[in-house]
Amino acid sequence: MSVPAVPDAILDRIKAIVGPGGYLEEAVDLAPYVCELRGRFHGRTPLLARPKSAEDVAAIVTICAENRIPIVPQGGNTGLMGGAIPHEDGAELLLSLARLNQVRAVDPANDTLTVEAGCVLADVQAVAAAADRLFPLSLAAEGSCQIGGNISTNAGGINVLRYGNARELVLGLEVVLPDGRLWDGLRELRKDNTGYDLKQLFIGGEGTLGVITAAVLRLFPRPRDVQTAFVAVGDVAAACDLLAGLRRRSGGRVDAFELISAATLELVLRHIPGCIDPLAGQHPWYVLAALSTSAEGETLRPALEDTLARAHDSGGIRDAVIAESMAQARDLWRLRESIPEAERYDGASIKHDVAVPISRIVEFMSRAEAAVRTELPGVRPVAFGHLGDGNIHFNLGLPPGLAVEAFRAREERLNRIVHDIAAELDGSISAEHGLGRIKRKSIRRYKPAVEIELMRRVKRALDPDGIMNPGKLI
Ligand SMILES: Cc1cc2nc3c(=O)[nH]c(=O)nc-3n(C[C@H](O)[C@H](O)[C@H](O)COP(=O)(O)OP(=O)(O)OC[C@H]3O[C@@H](n4cnc5c(N)ncnc54)[C@H](O)[C@@H]3O)c2cc1C
Repeated sequence: MSVPAVPDAILDRIKAIVGPGGYLEEAVDLAPYVCELRGRFHGRTPLLARPKSAEDVAAIVTICAENRIPIVPQGGNTGLMGGAIPHEDGAELLLSLARLNQVRAVDPANDTLTVEAGCVLADVQAVAAAADRLFPLSLAAEGSCQIGGNISTNAGGINVLRYGNARELVLGLEVVLPDGRLWDGLRELRKDNTGYDLKQLFIGGEGTLGVITAAVLRLFPRPRDVQTAFVAVGDVAAACDLLAGLRRRSGGRVDAFELISAATLELVLRHIPGCIDPLAGQHPWYVLAALSTSAEGETLRPALEDTLARAHDSGGIRDAVIAESMAQARDLWRLRESIPEAERYDGASIKHDVAVPISRIVEFMSRAEAAVRTELPGVRPVAFGHLGDGNIHFNLGLPPGLAVEAFRAREERLNRIVHDIAAELDGSISAEHGLGRIKRKSIRRYKPAVEIELMRRVKRALDPDGIMNPGKLI
């Protein structure tokens, strides 16, 4: 079936709204916006519109709604599930939020920040820091992802353990609905028990229910003392014990607790210039942990040292280094944050972003590793992730000697194996990256039918013509 192209007259109306400089239409200019980071999807669009205000977004969506033109919202295009890329038929308008990048309000007394959707995450963090506050959402793509994209994917990152996902960090939203109406839900309240919490539909909605144009974000006291340690452990159970020990000893002030397998660290050391193993010898697993306090004059160094010493004495850990300076802490974090880049240099890999209850991580790891090795001898598990959240990136590297096409041909089967094990352990097949185009169909196997049906009803209720990011999530 041929897909109708977007009529020129409609494109002209949209161009008139955003004005010169507010759109791109030449293939060469559009190229970076229609291609996903990992190169899995190459879409097409007749126009990338870059509105500068929520009112302009509303005007564009109104035109699209009247003419049933599908819209793909796009933030920083760092999402890993193909959600921000238009389909290949060229029938969808691409709507970039990049120029909606104003800070609308900073309210230190209320510990809130109101920003537009196109603000880059690192800039949001900087605005919070300038007000002597912390906006704790932090992830390796923070220099280019946008807060609207973070909210739409319910992004997690390294500080979820202490501060929660994007879902927990948003107090209010402003959203352009699929019919073009602008919903002002920019509430700055921590308590508001007046019915359904509608903003939560758009958080993690991956642009399928509306376009987020602004958000009220929660701020926290800025950490005064941060302690960072890189620790070698013999197995995943020891890492889980260390997490429990640190949480107990620090009174729950563990911000990040990242697990890195030996194979993953080896990949980073091999591919990323300047990365150095801070520990002597080789160990099966490593942990990168960060603790912080915002209390004046307090340090968590004794709590960290004491916990590590006890764990060492009981055989729970093999070796450890504590950063002595910010520069050393940054070097340790570089080992963790370079993993996606190292994987890219290493070649084809099959990625899994699963979560299980922390109490079942040990079982997940041993079952998943055995199962994929049986299915594909020689496969190289590259496991790392946010252990403190029960979220493991259980990726699989190409077995030596196997052609990429033959590896890809096994992808569906390997996905099924890993996802089935996560589901059997009461887990999730997508802990933080969402469903997008990639997991949209497979989720049906894992969610109760009633839940899928409710999700479909919500979609139909808000977007009866299905113009908001069709073919994604649901
Ligand atoms: C190196 C690297 C590390 C990463 N680490 C993490 C991590 O630790 N944790 C994590 O959760 N993710 C991580 N990600 C994934 C990604 O960065 C996040 O999903 C991020 O939140 C996406 O933001 P974005 O602005 O790039 O969104 P995009 O990729 O542009 O869009 C993502 C989805 O949101 C929709 N969308 C975007 N903006 C809006 C809007 N304003 N209104 C409505 N819908 C919108 C899009 O249509 C799409 O479906 C990582 C990615 C990379 C490349």
